Amino acid sequence: MSPILDIDGSLIGFMATEEDVTELKNREEVLELLTNRFMRTTSAANIATWEWDITTDKLINDTIFFKLYGADLNFDPRGAYEAWKSFLHPDNRERTVNDLQEILQNPKKPFDLKYKIITPTGEIKILRAIAEVVRDINGKPLKAYGVNWDITLEEEIDHAKTEFISLASHELRTPMTTVRWYAEMLLHGDMGNLNDTQKDYLKTIADGNLHLVNIVNALLDVSRMELGTLATKNEVINFSAITEQIKNEFQAHLTKKKLNYHANIDPSVPNISADPKFIEIIFQNLLSNAIKYTPNKGTITLSIHLNADKTHVIIAVTDTGCGIPSSEYDRIFSKLFRATNVRNEFSEGTGLGLYLTKSIVDSTGGKIWFESEENNGSTFFVSYPVEGMRNV
Ligand code: ADP
Repeated sequence: MSPILDIDGSLIGFMATEEDVTELKNREEVLELLTNRFMRTTSAANIATWEWDITTDKLINDTIFFKLYGADLNFDPRGAYEAWKSFLHPDNRERTVNDLQEILQNPKKPFDLKYKIITPTGEIKILRAIAEVVRDINGKPLKAYGVNWDITLEEEIDHAKTEFISLASHELRTPMTTVRWYAEMLLHGDMGNLNDTQKDYLKTIADGNLHLVNIVNALLDVSRMELGTLATKNEVINFSAITEQIKNEFQAHLTKKKLNYHANIDPSVPNISADPKFIEIIFQNLLSNAIKYTPNKGTITLSIHLNADKTHVIIAVTDTGCGIPSSEYDRIFSKLFRATNVRNEFSEGTGLGLYLTKSIVDSTGGKIWFESEENNGSTFFVSYPVEGMRNV
């Protein structure tokens, strides 16, 4: 409302407009309600929220973020990204930065990171960050909206559990090996002849024991990998020698199932620097799966070649087996996962082999993936740069 004055300045009237602001008021109320709910719930759960403008490298964060890091990142003259990098613990700085870069470059990769930081007061925390990346039409990342929270306690509990599994499986190995030796001695007739029923029972004991040994060994390897006690000791690896050795190891299984086996080793593949125990776990898992999941008289092919740019060695194990249902592709490398089409028919698996293989491959700078069609076979690929495995 504004007054209307005459030339002497006397008030002669008012000019007014009237507007219905009910909707605006309603919207304000809803906004207040939502903001209030958002602030209270994130604060109750100690979840920090942030918004990172990737193009200008500016970060907007809240007070919980400040509490988690013990500092403000958005006023750092180096920019938000460099400031955040400087908080990362040296143990995982390189890996975390690489993981983040990969997420930014690859729109298919979910933004889900776990990393250790050191706060300015020297406190070490493990944080998890989940975010959504907004991109332009060419996939270039523009902004990321995310949350951060402290998972130090959960990680410590997980670590303690893994230590327990490692210890328990280590302790279980000795008595199980004793059972194995005695069962084998009895089966070989070292303690006198057995009748057929006794042999059958003993064979069931020996098979069951072997399955247990496999599970315990896999658990031990997985727990050691997770605890970081399976360090790399790289040597020069010659693939022709390895494939020969692998074939000898699996010969009995190949013959038993009358499988055709081909090894195609490209002679131009150079020797690479890798840890023989990791190489063995990789080959062992991929080949034993191919054998396990391929019916009698099928074909297994091991191929080792270079990619087109000759920068990477690619190991491929192809089978003509039961394949993997497409709805379960994304769970194949998860711990203890076994696809629905194998659970009944092939009871001897543990669901740990591929999880362990992927953990090893990922942490040593390689890549693992597969192609498969249900009832039509699978190919599992592992690739490493020709420079070899990264040390862990
Ligand atoms: P498992 O001990 O059950 O073989 P893995 O971790 O090695 O455990 O594999 C996980 C699951 O992936 C298997 O249970 C199976 O469903 C599937 N899988 C792995 N390799 C193959 C293959 N060559 N053919 C078909 N399915 C496979």
